[in-house]
Amino acid sequence: MSCVHCGRDVQPAFRYCPWCGATQRRKLVEFFLGHEGRALRVSRYFRTVDQEPQVRVSVWNEHGEALAAVSLDEPEAARLAGFLRPARAHRSAVTRLREAVGTRRPTR
Ligand SMILES: [Zn+2]
Repeated sequence: MSCVHCGRDVQPAFRYCPWCGATQRRKLVEFFLGHEGRALRVSRYFRTVDQEPQVRVSVWNEHGEALAAVSLDEPEAARLAGFLRPARAHRSAVTRLREAVGTRRPTR
């Protein structure tokens, strides 16, 4: 096996490269349960020497069959993450700045 980051030899059991310290994880997979036995499978592929980062989303039915899949590049995946962020995080920069300095517009 070779390191996903620097390409030097790494034993398969190693979780980190002894040469550059990079984690040898190539992807992360998580399932999200939907209604009627369906599920969303989200796989995050990390950048490695031979792999571009991407997020793959697939829809699975109650029989364990994939019905559809779509791959998102990093900018689209980041946009999706922003869309799913709690509404509180969407407050405008002006609102957050006002709260930070604790000032309000003077009232007359
Ligand atoms: Zn390495």
